[in-house]
Amino acid sequence: MGRAELGQLIDREGLDASDGARGRLAIAVPAAWARDRADIEIIVPARVTCARCDGGGCDSCARSGAHRAPAEAAARTLRLRLPPDLTAGATLRLVRPFGEHAPLDQLLVELREGSAASPGVLRVGPPPSDALARAAAPDGGGLRALGAQLGTPAVLAALAAIAAVVGLLLGR
Ligand SMILES: [Zn+2]
Repeated sequence: MGRAELGQLIDREGLDASDGARGRLAIAVPAAWARDRADIEIIVPARVTCARCDGGGCDSCARSGAHRAPAEAAARTLRLRLPPDLTAGATLRLVRPFGEHAPLDQLLVELREGSAASPGVLRVGPPPSDALARAAAPDGGGLRALGAQLGTPAVLAALAAIAAVVGLLLGR
């Protein structure tokens, strides 16, 4: 990827100026997940609150206060890596989260720590840090299995693709 292309992806002013449909989704994850910088999967609801009017109704959402995500759950399931520090909350801006042809232009995912994960939010990796400690036990079998899991090329490629489209906005 060239520098110019990367610059466009993280051009915050350009993203702010975009007048496309913008939704917001607030989710909680356990503090331990954030500490581990876990990868999570989010099954986004079929309707997400309009980020411009916060549900009150505006031109962007045709006064409905919401935007539609794809009907099929698989098409609105997102995967992302948690940012390193969620103690003050963090917002991830996902650009075209459901692909170029879906109507939603941006999805703001507001993350905070909670006592439990929000419904539809799953941890998919990496293993909890206490599992890492167990994997380092003398028998070594767990460590080999862990290495195979983390090194899967498809997983790494997916994470790289995700990293390219995620703009991290701290302190919003
Ligand atoms: Zn609206």
